[in-house]
Parts: sequence; C-alpha cells; structure tokens
Amino acid sequence: MRQIISAVCVLALLSLGAGCTGASTTAPTAADAKKFLDQVDRTLTRLSLDANRAGWVGQNFITPDTEAMDARGTQALADASSRFAKEAVRFDTLDLPADQRRQMTLLKVSLVLATPSDPKEAEELTTLVSAMRGEYGRGKWCRDAAKPESCLNIDDITKVLATSRNEKEIRAAWEGWHTIAPPMKKEYQRFAELSNKGAKELGFADTGAMWRARYDMAPDAFAKELDRLYEQLRPLYLQLHAYVRAKLHKKYGDVVPEKGPLPAHLLGNIWAQDWSNIYDVVAPANADVGYSLTDILKRRKTSATNMVKTGEHFFVSLGFAPLPKTFWERSLFVRPRDREVVCHASAWDIDNVDDLRIKMCIDQTAEDFTTIHHELGHNFYQRAYDTLPMIFRDSANDGFHEATGDTIALSVTPEYLVKIGLLDKAPDASRDIGLLMSKALEKVAFIPFGLVIDQWRWKVFSGEVAPDRYNSAWWDLRLKYQGVAPPSARGDQLFDPGAKYHVPDNTPYMRYFLANVLEFQFHRALSKAAGCTAPLHRCSIYESKAAGDKLNAMLSLGLSKPWPDALEAMTGSRQMDASAILDYFRPLQAWLEEQNKGVAVGW
Ligand SMILES: [Zn+2]
Repeated sequence: MRQIISAVCVLALLSLGAGCTGASTTAPTAADAKKFLDQVDRTLTRLSLDANRAGWVGQNFITPDTEAMDARGTQALADASSRFAKEAVRFDTLDLPADQRRQMTLLKVSLVLATPSDPKEAEELTTLVSAMRGEYGRGKWCRDAAKPESCLNIDDITKVLATSRNEKEIRAAWEGWHTIAPPMKKEYQRFAELSNKGAKELGFADTGAMWRARYDMAPDAFAKELDRLYEQLRPLYLQLHAYVRAKLHKKYGDVVPEKGPLPAHLLGNIWAQDWSNIYDVVAPANADVGYSLTDILKRRKTSATNMVKTGEHFFVSLGFAPLPKTFWERSLFVRPRDREVVCHASAWDIDNVDDLRIKMCIDQTAEDFTTIHHELGHNFYQRAYDTLPMIFRDSANDGFHEATGDTIALSVTPEYLVKIGLLDKAPDASRDIGLLMSKALEKVAFIPFGLVIDQWRWKVFSGEVAPDRYNSAWWDLRLKYQGVAPPSARGDQLFDPGAKYHVPDNTPYMRYFLANVLEFQFHRALSKAAGCTAPLHRCSIYESKAAGDKLNAMLSLGLSKPWPDALEAMTGSRQMDASAILDYFRPLQAWLEEQNKGVAVGW
C-alpha cells in the first residue's frame, strides 16, 4: 500500500555508487549551482519517466524480459541520483537562494543506502541486501522437513495467526516463521558495517543518523519528538492493552498472565502490529454495528471500477479536479486471468505530471474500499505538486504521503455511507464502541510497533547495540513500547527482527508511525474547517470545499518547504500532535477505563 515511484522516492531507494563525474577543481559559482540544478531536474525527469514506464510494465506483465528492463530503468536512475548526491557536496559553502539550497540538501539526505566508495565494498553491500531480501521472500517453515507439502509460506502463516484460536498451533506457526531469520544475522551485521561506512563518507555519523536527517530537524531532536508523541498516546494504549489482556486471559487461561506483558503470538498478527484479527475475542457486548460494508458491496455486486469511482468522487466533492481519462484507461483494478502481476496495491504517477494510475487487485471488501482511498490519496497528492521542480515532487515528509489517503478513509463514516446510498440507516451512537474498538485494534495497537523497528535499527547502526545483543535489544524495545513478550525464550543466537520484511529489505519504518499520528491530526483540522461539531469519530469532511482548500494548501507545497510549514498550512500548527488520536478515541478510552476498573494496567 505504498506509493511506488516518483523520482525522489526512487532516489531514496537507491544506493550511492562510487565516484563522481563532472566535478571541477575550481570554486563553483552561484551560476554553476543553478546550471547543476537545472541539469538535475532535466535528467531526473527523463530517467524517472523511463524507470516508471519500465516499472509499470515489469509489474503488470512479469516475465524475465520485463524484469530486466525494469531493473535497467531503476539502475539508470540510481546511478544518476547517486552521482548528483555526491556532486551536490561541491556547493556546500556557497551562498544560494533558499529553494536552491533546499534542493541541494535534499539531494544529499534522500538516500536510504549509501554504498562505500570502494567498489568492492559497494558491491558486497548491494549483494547483501539482495541476498537478505531473497531469503525473506523465499522464507518457509516446514512442519515436517521431509514433507514439502507441510511447508508454510508467509501467507499461510499469516492466516494461521489471524484465524486459529488454538494456542499450540499459533505458537508453532509463530516460532516457525521466526526460523527464517537466524541465517541473516551475520549478513545483517556486515550490512550495518558497510552501510555505516557509506553514510560516514557522506558526512553522517551513521546510517540511522542519515535516515533521521531528512526530517528538517537535528537527528537527536527528531528522536526526542517521537518519544513525546508516544508519551501522549501511552495512557490510551495502556487501557487497550489491559482490556485485551483480560479478554485473552479469559480465552487462553494462564498462557496469558493477568499482569505483565501480552504474549506476542496471540494478537492475530505475526508481529503483533495490528490486532484487528482478534476482534471476535475482544468484541464489546451489544456493540455490533449491525452492518458489514463487505456484505453490502458483495450484495450489490459493486464493480471494482465503481469502488474506485466512489473514492474519486470523495476527492472531487472536496473541490479536486476529477482524475484524467487516462487514469481509467491505464490503471489495473482486477487481477488478470492470463498473466502474472504484482498485486500489492500501489499508486503511480508515470510522467510525474498527470499520468496517474493505481495498480491493485480489488476485491469487494471493506478493507479494499479503504485501500482505494489510501492509494488515491497518493495520486491526488502527486498531482497537487506536479509543477514544482522534480526534487520537490514528493510529500513534506514520508509520513505525509502515507497519511493523506488514510485521512480521507477516516471520513468514511456510517453517515457518509448513508449519504452516498450504500447504507440505508446509520447505527445509533450506542454502537460507536464497536466501531471504535475495531479501529483501535488497527490504529492504536500499531503505534508502539511503528516506533520499535527504527528505534532498534538506530541503536544497531550507532553501535549502541552490539551484534551479540541484537535479539535481546529487540525484545527489550518490544517490551518497553508494546508491552509484549515472546511465547518462549529467545536467545541472542536468534535474529527475530529479520522476520519482519522491512529489516532485510532495508526500508525505513518511521513513516508509518508518523502517518498514524498525522492522519488523525489532519482529520481533526479538516473536520474543524468543515464545521463539524460532532464527536471527532463521527465527522466526515465529504462535500466540504473549505476542508478541500486546507488539504490542497498542504498537498501543493510538496517537499518544497520544511514539513512544519506544510503542517501549518493545513492545521495551523507547526508541531505534530498525537492528541487528535485521543480526541478520536475519547468515548472508547472512557469505556475501557470503566471495563478495566480494579484491573492492573500496564506491565
Ligand atoms: Zn501508501
């Protein structure tokens, strides 16, 4: 569900190649800087278009040929981006207009992986990342090593975690999946060494500091900011945690302690990052919302195209122009019967102007209905910044891109479904607890997990956590933030972080935490602009041009200004604020406090 391409995003995925060309020995002038940036703009525009086209075809018609073309397009863009990042250093001491200075800075901070200048080490590093990615992708756990048919892949294991209510079976699957990771431990250690070397060559203390440098504030200040947001949310999380623990204790007995941490395997998800799948175990009594959007969509035989049209209509109701004709001609909405495609939902802007598309295999489910809004959020964002210089055609920070569509999805309230004719009558307020509980299991449960992955990686990159403590540090953090513990002892010979995709894939994760905080802050600001006086969880900004104007004020800035400016343009505040989450879940928090009376809270 992430936005795939646009030059800056791609740039962020790439490694920094060795050497740089075109560097001159004489001191550069302001005119040289302008010329350089013009060249960067032209080159990235051209290479990004090529890479996007090849990427689109590669993912829509998977063959060895299209895969090779895709890789070639990506590589060409990678090489150019790496070269530009190094060349930008040449202009470091020059006095430049603010927007040019910002472009120079962004060129340097947008790399996720900086390869060392030694070509052998650079190759070793990129090979390590591909190897770990491959090991994860091929990861399987076999109940019986002699029987290939007993092997489960990630989809199978995900399903066991989501649907089984047999503790032994769940535990075996959870432990089974984690067996894919220990072989990656040595590789990860070497990977961290080499990627730090590359980051240092670019002037960063280590890879983690390089990742944090892209947030328009000092890396340490950013880390403090995250802890502040977590502290705002902690009281709500503690209530949810205690309530879920009591319900699980009732269901599973002493495997779940009455006090102390939750067992990580019983929350319906391999990483305990989303607890939605155990809604049936923790559902509040008498709070059945009385309808299922999935059932409605199926009963009406709503086509995939019409589901997307409904999403588009929401944005249009806010004052945005309809999507171009080519969107409907070129997008992929339904899994083709005759070829292999990458079905993972994504949003594209092929020409970085208005050749917008989504690629998704849509089912008639409430989940996909939400995902459509998420992907369209990327598309409307991409179009809002399409006249800026290429380097600025991205979101204010990476959390903003992910938050935009989810903000709109928060407006898909029962009253909204009534307005567009999908539902006859909205359930009364007594059912709100059910709706809020299911949303909290997804959004509130995720918050601490969203912090843990990069907290762990930052400590690994900085050397604070040495390789012999990789696993214990991982579980220390999961205990500290999530209040979860593994179902059995996990020694330091294991490598449990490697069992989460984003670690072997080397994808930064903090964006998902930020998005989770921002979407509620956006929703609160836009609801206010829309004049909504109802409780926040009942507000929908549908048909509000005033809300649309505020949203567009933020979107159209792209990455051209520091993110606090973009945030201010929409919300009036320059600070991220998790109190909007508390506002949204206020009735649930009061209800949870009532349920948890006399029960120990915390771990
Ligand atoms: Zn996304």
